[in-house]
Amino acid sequence: MHEDCERVILTEEEIAGRVKEAAAWLDERFRGTTPVAVCNLKGSAMFFCDLVRAMQTDVELDFMAVSSYGNDTIAAGRPKIKKHLFSSVAGRDVILAEDIVDTGRTLVTLRNFFEERGAKSLTVVTLLDKPSRRKVNVSADFTCFTIEDAFIVGYGLDYAEKYRNLPYIAILKREIYEHD
Ligand code: 5GP
Repeated sequence: MHEDCERVILTEEEIAGRVKEAAAWLDERFRGTTPVAVCNLKGSAMFFCDLVRAMQTDVELDFMAVSSYGNDTIAAGRPKIKKHLFSSVAGRDVILAEDIVDTGRTLVTLRNFFEERGAKSLTVVTLLDKPSRRKVNVSADFTCFTIEDAFIVGYGLDYAEKYRNLPYIAILKREIYEHD
């Protein structure tokens, strides 16, 4: 384990097993169609790549970025769209891969975004959910893991752009982000 981490909460094997279940759930739902799978960068990158590779259904891939964090552990205000999609999603079934639903504000912003752009449907698959932190009433259609309220890193999730490449998900030591 990385020395800046306190405890691993999800191992590489646990993540891989559950991502396969999410992919099977999506295959069942989208059999015979070609949805657009959207990755919300950067935190969802690892999850997204593993998820779409585990799917049997034909999917198109697209990427966008919404972010409310600077280099901090507390979301700063209203989420902003930082990078737009490459293609139109009007009339398309959209699968959105999220890294984590925390306050829920990012997900509300994204739901509005896809509705405004005329998506036929939106299916949200999140790797993690922290329901105890919710500020707005929103939820994903499929949640891989529900976790406690702690600041976590790894498997795409960062602190100040670090730790994204850890293959597991771990709680970051407080001393790394708490300064005097
Ligand atoms: P929300 O808008 O739901 O409050 O925030 C969602 C975003 O906050 C996630 O997509 C993620 O980027 C970030 N986030 C929330 N909790 C954590 C966490 O524990 N660790 C990291 N690294 N990012 C988090």
